[in-house]
Amino acid sequence: MSSFEEVFGTTPDGSWRAPGRVNLIGEHTDYNDGLVLPIALPNQILVTASKRDDGRIAVASTGHDRVIEFAIDELVPGSVGDWAAYPAGAAWVLRESGYPIGGANLLVDSDLPSGAGLSSSAALLCATSVALLGLRDIEFDPAEVARLAQLAENQYVGAPVGLMDQMASMCCTAGHALYFDIRAMSTDQIPFDPAADDLALLVVDVKAPHRHVDGEYAARRRSCEEAAAELGVPALRSIAYDDLDDALKRLQDGVVRRRVRHVVTEIRRVEEAVELMRAGRLRDVGPLFTASHVSMRDDFEITVPELDVAVDTALEAGALGARMTGGGFDGCIIALTEASTADAVLSAIEKAFAEHGFSAPSALAAAPSAGASRSD
Ligand code: ADP
Ligand code: MG
Repeated sequence: MSSFEEVFGTTPDGSWRAPGRVNLIGEHTDYNDGLVLPIALPNQILVTASKRDDGRIAVASTGHDRVIEFAIDELVPGSVGDWAAYPAGAAWVLRESGYPIGGANLLVDSDLPSGAGLSSSAALLCATSVALLGLRDIEFDPAEVARLAQLAENQYVGAPVGLMDQMASMCCTAGHALYFDIRAMSTDQIPFDPAADDLALLVVDVKAPHRHVDGEYAARRRSCEEAAAELGVPALRSIAYDDLDDALKRLQDGVVRRRVRHVVTEIRRVEEAVELMRAGRLRDVGPLFTASHVSMRDDFEITVPELDVAVDTALEAGALGARMTGGGFDGCIIALTEASTADAVLSAIEKAFAEHGFSAPSALAAAPSAGASRSD
């Protein structure tokens, strides 16, 4: 791909970055008003930008050939398609919210895998948003930009995503996980720095073949909503861990009972993980990861063989804990290992995948990184 000057015939005014994320624990808890605990990854989307004075935005990406151009004033949901829907959506929502953004040339570069469940979509929205704001020296609240980026993904792009990914991309800080309470809409920075404790957090993209699972997410969500209605609560977050057995007795359907058990125990595991991290007991978080995986495999039923083999192999090779992360059915696993065994754990997964005839996985080491910012 050509340089900014070659694409746009002008020099850039600056670069802005927004990271991808991985959720440490708290899966399928977001739409149950629950708790999540993401970290931002070192891998990120970088947007290099220059101002234009004609109210138009031109976007190019190192992964795509064409420059796509649109007028900010003319944006309506869906008016720009393909990958440029994300930058267009960011501009649309900022305009709708009254931010005085202006025209821009934007070049997108990335070392964050796209479509791997590491939230390149949120990173692209957040990086574009901070670039459009930064170009005009507009001050902003990171959590508010996260909320707007979610609105853009929901209403402009048309993807029914929650708020965790955007919050992680905007609000994480280096060496911490972001404890995000969706019901309270509150956040807390929890110390999490595996390398400082001679630990490593491996993120392994299992590259599972795409299966037709669009309906599965909606079905899980519906089960949780129906269970909450049956139990007479606004969301499953309202079921305290200590009341779980009583709640389960009141539910007729065995599948729904297992779905509820996952959500309520998973929320409890997030609380336990946070307590352990606050106490500096990172190694003890490992078993919670593994318990989370078992719950997703057996109760929520959102794993696939690639995810299960990766987790089982990581544990056999000495990981302190491992789990699939993300919505399920494909994506990544995370494994917490001693720094000295990380390579052996990864090699064991690669070997197991070859033996099972799975595609080769790819891995990255996940140092907890900072949220979106200007990068130069
Ligand atoms: P994820 O968020 O898990 O990576 P999504 O399907 O939600 O997966 O988002 C991936 C989409 O985001 C891509 O199909 C593309 O439209 C857009 N995208 C991600 N990275 C880039 C990039 N570097 N350049 C252009 N578009 C990108
Ligand atoms: Mg996404």
